[in-house]
Amino acid sequence: KTRTVWADKVVNSVCPYCGVGCQTKVAVKDDRIVQVDGRDGPSNENRLCVKGRFGFDYVRHPQRLKKPLIRREGVAKSLDNLPDPANPWTHFREATWEEALERAASGLARTRDTHGPHALAGFGSAKGTNEEAYLFQKLVRVGFGSNNVDHCTRLCHASSVAALMEGVGSGAVSAPFMAAADADFIIVIGARPEQNHPVANTYFKQAAKAGKKIVVMDPRGQGLSRFAWRSLQFKPGADVAMLNAMLNVIVTEKLYDEQYIQANVDGFEALKAKVADFTPEAMEPVCGIAAATLREVARTYATSERSIIFWGMGVSQHTHGTDNARCLIALALITGHVGRPGTGLHPLRGQNNVQGASDAGLIPMVFPDYQSVENPDVRGRFEDLWGRTLDPKRGLTVVEIIDEAYEGKIKAMYVQGENPAMSDPDQNHARAALCRLDHLVVQDIFLTETALYADVILPASAHAEKLGTYTNTNRQVQMGRPALNLPGEARQDWEILYDIGRRIGVGWSYETVADVFAEMASTMPSLKNISWDRVMREESVTYPADAPDRPGNEIIFAQGFPTRDGRARIVPADVLPPDEMPDVEFPLVLSTGRMLEHWHTGSMTRRAGVLDALEPEPVALMNPREILRREMRAGEVVQVSTRRGEIELTLRADRDCPEGFVFVPFCFNEAAANFLTNPQLDPFGKIPEFKYCAARVDKRSVR
Ligand code: SF4
Repeated sequence: KTRTVWADKVVNSVCPYCGVGCQTKVAVKDDRIVQVDGRDGPSNENRLCVKGRFGFDYVRHPQRLKKPLIRREGVAKSLDNLPDPANPWTHFREATWEEALERAASGLARTRDTHGPHALAGFGSAKGTNEEAYLFQKLVRVGFGSNNVDHCTRLCHASSVAALMEGVGSGAVSAPFMAAADADFIIVIGARPEQNHPVANTYFKQAAKAGKKIVVMDPRGQGLSRFAWRSLQFKPGADVAMLNAMLNVIVTEKLYDEQYIQANVDGFEALKAKVADFTPEAMEPVCGIAAATLREVARTYATSERSIIFWGMGVSQHTHGTDNARCLIALALITGHVGRPGTGLHPLRGQNNVQGASDAGLIPMVFPDYQSVENPDVRGRFEDLWGRTLDPKRGLTVVEIIDEAYEGKIKAMYVQGENPAMSDPDQNHARAALCRLDHLVVQDIFLTETALYADVILPASAHAEKLGTYTNTNRQVQMGRPALNLPGEARQDWEILYDIGRRIGVGWSYETVADVFAEMASTMPSLKNISWDRVMREESVTYPADAPDRPGNEIIFAQGFPTRDGRARIVPADVLPPDEMPDVEFPLVLSTGRMLEHWHTGSMTRRAGVLDALEPEPVALMNPREILRREMRAGEVVQVSTRRGEIELTLRADRDCPEGFVFVPFCFNEAAANFLTNPQLDPFGKIPEFKYCAARVDKRSVR
């Protein structure tokens, strides 16, 4: 007996939210989604979390954009003169597609022709398909003429990717999260999979129940800690101190794998010298973890037959995020815990397609498959394929683009499916920068906070309306299929990109999305043996695949590394303080992040009835003892402020927060956490320090 006999159809697709990439069955009645169930996909085996199961009705929300909009003549952009999102007609009017496309494209082309290619930039989307990401980066590189193209990977795992590329020659995971089942020892650090990768978390809990030792390392406690062998709630920002102490134990007690290092790894001597002073006893007061515990965890990681490391944005979103990841890579390399079942390095990717969008070249330093724009041979190949001379210089990253817009150097932008007016740090600065643009084109499904600053708004396709591939955190390329018709005059994203490209002089010709995939795959060695038809047929194919008829390789690095000489490289890290430390005026540490029910800037989940009912208002989380000490009480409205701004929100008691600490989710537009955050960047990954800045919390009113 099936639960969906009453549906008109059931469409096989994938979840639009996190990087786990759960496969779904989408039941549709009268062109509305009525139920979503899990399918037996490789990363979910029929499971779904609350977002995947109940977060679908945003697609038919009355606020969906159904017609192109154009800013009214003479309506200036300023922070004091923003439209009311419920009544945008004071600032925008409806337009035909012809007029909107012409206005969008002519503004971009005029900026390019008047001020040069470096006066433009584009933000693509990690929520879109691989094909959209490929087209978007090609449009910027060929049509704008620069590499000023980036996306939200810059705000999540850019530092992890920088460390992985430098260390092991590949930014992707070395093993899927299901490998936890084969491991003896599992580290989960700087991640809250129960909230952010919930179905992956079920695999971790299963592994714990099967007797595997899990160590959770994070300044905040979490549900997974209940299943853990050890839980290390270290001091915020002290990651390198703690990890170097573990490396010190492994080095001084000679627990490393000498044979593996000799055969595969450079840089061990430099690491030995660097960590010599980082004894657990010396690091105990720095990181707040007892020396005996650090020794025990380091020994067990090194001596277990199979150990694996999973990490999240608690590792990456620091000014020392690359150093944090370097330490994790060093742990795996000196113990030989990589390239075998149950071992490896796995940065848990955030958005449903952030892996794929990065692979497809939505990054300012590299073409598809991380091929450097500065390498003349690589560039020559893309110039031959795309028929244009390409910019030999790296482009700007997300925060750099916003900075240059603020300074008036970037004058026009094309933003597809991203929301920098919520997601970028230091929102007063970021929104002022958007105001200063001469020309902003926003392509999205809702009138996002960013769209309020636009000159032209192009109504696009939701996940449930489009066909295309997505690549999850496990390197599994999966097929998403349309379940619904587009509302009103909304159009497919790839078709809009195609039309804009043609109008600004990009000579391209594609009949279908499959044509785009074919061209993209031809530029990406990682997609060798993975065709559109194969993904259609098999639903999920892991890259790399050795042959068209053989499953992809879930475990990589068994035979060396994809570096020039096949060897991995250790880069030792120093302890550097966070950019902004608490002081008398701002005595608390502020950290931002996601919550189970809401996704990123909330544009989808805040419009999903069940999810918004579960978490309807902005909250600040603090330890109950900290709340008592400040003579506040849970439920009252407080003001959280930093040197950059302040917001008001409801105080919630949370024993998982350490004392001296406040956590604010960044998904609520009525109290956007990024008014508070520090834009200071990690020098390698160029990622802002979302996980640490100095803050204060003040009483406001009692409800
Ligand atoms: Fe969707 Fe991630 Fe939840 Fe799976 S775990 S249902 S991919 S949000």
